[in-house]
Amino acid sequence: MNVHNQNNKLKVFKFGGASVQDAQSIINLAGILKKYNHKPLIVVISAMNKTTRQLIKLTQLYFKSTDYQNQLKLIIDFHQNIINELFIEPKNINYEFEQLIEQLNQKLTQKPSSDYDFEYDQIVVYGELFSTKIIAAYLKQENIDNEWVDIRKLIKTDAEYANAKPDWQQTAQLLQKQFKYQKNTVITQGFIASNQQGFNTSLGIEGSDFSAAIIAYSLNAQELVVWKDVAGFYSSDPKLFKNVVKLDAVSFHEAVELAYYGAKIIHPKTIKPLQNKKIPLHVKSFINPDLSGTLIKETTENNTGLQPEVPVFITKNNQILISIAPQDFSFIAEDNLSDIFSLMARFRIKVNLMQNSAISFSICVDYEPVRIKQLLLELKNNYKVLYNTNLTLITIRHYNSSIIEELTVGRKIFVQQKSRNTARFVVK
Ligand code: ASP
Ligand code: MG
Repeated sequence: MNVHNQNNKLKVFKFGGASVQDAQSIINLAGILKKYNHKPLIVVISAMNKTTRQLIKLTQLYFKSTDYQNQLKLIIDFHQNIINELFIEPKNINYEFEQLIEQLNQKLTQKPSSDYDFEYDQIVVYGELFSTKIIAAYLKQENIDNEWVDIRKLIKTDAEYANAKPDWQQTAQLLQKQFKYQKNTVITQGFIASNQQGFNTSLGIEGSDFSAAIIAYSLNAQELVVWKDVAGFYSSDPKLFKNVVKLDAVSFHEAVELAYYGAKIIHPKTIKPLQNKKIPLHVKSFINPDLSGTLIKETTENNTGLQPEVPVFITKNNQILISIAPQDFSFIAEDNLSDIFSLMARFRIKVNLMQNSAISFSICVDYEPVRIKQLLLELKNNYKVLYNTNLTLITIRHYNSSIIEELTVGRKIFVQQKSRNTARFVVK
C-alpha cells in the first residue's frame, strides 16, 4: 500500500457516548480540545449518550410497521434540549438539525424492506450525524475552528449490514486524499460508514473505537487518544474489586490477550491495526484529563507487557461447564471433537475454556439459556453429558500464589489451568 508520511504529526482523538452525554460534557470536550490544541487533529465522536440504543428501538418499531412517533420525538427532544442549552444563537444549528430530521423522516415514511440489518444501518447513522453536527457548531461558537466531515464518504465497507468490514485499501486511499494537507481540526463520526452501493453501513456495536483505529492506521497517525470515563486500564474491574491498580502501560500483545479473556478494554479489532503500524493508543480520562492514563504500545519499558507488572485478573460469571464423554466409555477422539466443535459453531457458542482427558472433553461457555438448551439436546443424542451452572471463570495474567489464594479461597474449583503467564480457574 502507498504509505504517505506527510501527516505523521496527525493525532486522532475519540470521544464515546458517555463523553458527550449532555450539554455539560460537550462543554468539557471543548475544554479538552482547547487545552491540547494539537494540530492536525481528527476527532471521532459517537452518538450522544444512549442515542444508538434509542435509534435501534426506533428501527424495531419502524420495521414492524408500528407507531414510532413517540420514540422519534424522544430522540429529537433529547438533542433539541442539548442544542437549547449550548447555543447562544441556535439558528444555524437548528436549521442543520432539522435537515437531518427531515432526511430521517423521509426514510421512515418509506415502507421497510425485509432486511432488518439493512434498515438498522439506514437509521442508526443519525446518532453520530446529530452529535457531530451539534458539536462542530458548538466548537465554532467557542472559536475552535473545525471542519465537519462525513466519514461515510471515506470509510468504505462491504455490505454486511450492522457489522460491516472495511475495505482497507480503498478507505486508506480516500482518507489520504482527503486529509493529505490537513492542518486543522476535523470533527467526524465513529461507527458509521458506507458501502459500494452508497448505502449506510455500521461497524458493529461500540464500533467508534474501531473507526478511530481505521483512521489512525490509514493516515499513519502519531497517536490515537481514546477519552473515557475512567483513568485508564486497571488490574481488574474497579467496579467489582477493591485494591485495583491503574496500569501505566500495556503492550499491544498483552492488550489483545486481556481483551480475549474478557477484559472490557479496547476490542482486539481496534488494537490490531494500531499494532501493525505501531501507533500508540492512549487511554485517558475526560473527567481528569491531567491524569496520565494508560498507554498501549509496542513494548513496555520493563519488557513484561505490563507496567507496573502486577497480576491482572478478569472474572466472567454465569458460566456453564459441560463435560462430554462418548456413551460407550470409549476414548474421546478427533472425530468426536470435530463433531462437538461443529455443533458449537452451528449454535454460535463461543468457548471460553476447554480441557480434555482420555474419556471426556469439557467446555466452559457463557450460559445463554436458549442456545445452551439446543446444544445440550444435540449433544445428548451421541454423548454422555454432565454439566454445572452458575460458575465463575477467573483468568489471571501475571499470576502469583497470593492472588490465586485470594481469588479462589473458599470456592470449589472445577477446572484449573496454568501456563507461564496465565492461570485460569472455573469455580463455584
Ligand atoms: N454509537 C455506537 C454504539 O453505541 C458506536 C459507539 O459508541 O462506539 O454502539
Ligand atoms: Mg457508545
